[in-house]
Amino acid sequence: VNISKDCVVTFHYTITDADGEVLETSQGDDPTAYLHGAGNIMPALERELAGKQTGDSLAVTLAPADAYGERDETREQKVPVKHLRYKGKLRPGQVVALQTGHGQVPVTVKKVGLHSATVDTNHPLAGKVLQFELSVVDVREASPEERSHGHAHGPGGHHH
Ligand SMILES: [Zn+2]
Repeated sequence: VNISKDCVVTFHYTITDADGEVLETSQGDDPTAYLHGAGNIMPALERELAGKQTGDSLAVTLAPADAYGERDETREQKVPVKHLRYKGKLRPGQVVALQTGHGQVPVTVKKVGLHSATVDTNHPLAGKVLQFELSVVDVREASPEERSHGHAHGPGGHHH
């Protein structure tokens, strides 16, 4: 099956920066699954995956605008430490989860005070040129339920 609209695609990915440093990988973990054509993943990756099949590997270099966006230097804010989720001691440079009204978002700690911390709310990978290495593990037709939900179910997929 070639990847096209309404396929559920399962793949492994590794994200590296311009220096070749690995930033994130699914290797050693469950591969991730998405419903093709439903806007589940970055449009630029979806475009590159179209037409590929099980066993194919590809490397895609994305400019910040196609990945996590440009950095916005005004996106620093002071937040109560109790809204941050972290283990151990809070330190500048750490990426931690900020509890917001719409769930948790990753933020980078800039300064730590007694009860509040200054955090950079840009995505940690914003402003970076990223290389994605993808390997397609499986391609199958989506079930009617997956189509109506607009996302993949089953191993590597998610449900709510
Ligand atoms: Zn669902």
